[in-house]
Amino acid sequence: MTTEKPFIYLDNAATTKPFSDVLDSYNKANEAYFGNASSVHFLGANSLNILNKAKQQILEFLKLRNHEVIFTSGATEAINLAIKGYCLKNQNRGKHIITSIYEHPAVSESIKQLVDLFGFEVTYLNIDKNGVVDLEQLKKSIREDTILVAIMAANNEIGSVNNLKEISFCLSSYPKICFFSDTTQAIGKLNVEYYYCDMFVIAGHKIHGLKGTGCLIKKKNINLLPITNGGGQQDDYRSGTIDVPGCISLAKAIRLNFLKLKHNFDYVCTLRDSLLKYLDSNKEEFEINSYYDNPYIVNFSSKKHKASVIVEGLSNNGIYVSTISACHSKKEKVSNVVLALKHDDKLASNTIRVSFSFDNTLEDVDAFINNIKKVIEGIRQ
Ligand code: PLP
Repeated sequence: MTTEKPFIYLDNAATTKPFSDVLDSYNKANEAYFGNASSVHFLGANSLNILNKAKQQILEFLKLRNHEVIFTSGATEAINLAIKGYCLKNQNRGKHIITSIYEHPAVSESIKQLVDLFGFEVTYLNIDKNGVVDLEQLKKSIREDTILVAIMAANNEIGSVNNLKEISFCLSSYPKICFFSDTTQAIGKLNVEYYYCDMFVIAGHKIHGLKGTGCLIKKKNINLLPITNGGGQQDDYRSGTIDVPGCISLAKAIRLNFLKLKHNFDYVCTLRDSLLKYLDSNKEEFEINSYYDNPYIVNFSSKKHKASVIVEGLSNNGIYVSTISACHSKKEKVSNVVLALKHDDKLASNTIRVSFSFDNTLEDVDAFINNIKKVIEGIRQ
């Protein structure tokens, strides 16, 4: 398949196009810092030095003092390290985890493994009609033996945003509980108060960085059992030769996103509003499933036609969006997130996710609207 013909990319929650500055810094770093950061010679020391600078810069962009960075290959690895590393290291303090029903599989499957193989117990929090977790249920679910609360910042299907500050306040009288948040869809896009988290994650490719880059950011006093064992790199938390150029490119991507966070957010609101206006004026055709505090993701259900047919029709016209989310699209037909929200099988089986980036335009939204009209007209005939 070739992507040479013009296309409109509205699947930015799945992945984003790298910034050219990020590619540049990656290429330059590959020339200048190819030395192994664990080598004792000059080139190695140079790589280690620039790597430590990248870590420091990330903490500075995020205005964090009590946290540290562990570079990983992306969000999934960072999440596995956070959840399994924390629970296995601290299981003598308790074996109960609280999470929500709509976490990404990187979170839910990590927890499931702790339950299946290591005897942990888990309580799942529901979401309310606004697509956020129920804080009263959170408070009631806390037990003597709870050691981890894992609640995502922004949901990857419907975009709804949990209030990390309020969650952390609910946990403030329980020093034994670690608060982990999957911030993959929030970082660099939303003004999220991630410093309230004991641990959170970044995936480079979701913020116009490179695939294969990411990190776990954790408070310094949080201890983890290493999940990837080997030569003891990164304070033994994540062994393996570090991809120094990748780490530099991640710091660059984070910086570029944070510099324009507010500007991009306001701009993407105009794109989102234009799409919502169309969807809202076609209530007999569409049901909106997403919430207004996150303009980057608009999720809706087709009431009359199969979403998979619409998405395929759009793709044939060079317009790329998702049904459900990218990692579910090929496996599942029903969105469990929309099911939990709307309690309607038909709506949950026919979801479409449009996800924006600052590099989309109002013309892209118009093209999407014109094409979805055409595709639906074609299905009717
Ligand atoms: N968490 C959320 C909320 C996501 O949206 C994704 C990717 O879609 C991930 C975790 C996993 O990210 P990656 O596949 O980059 O490891």
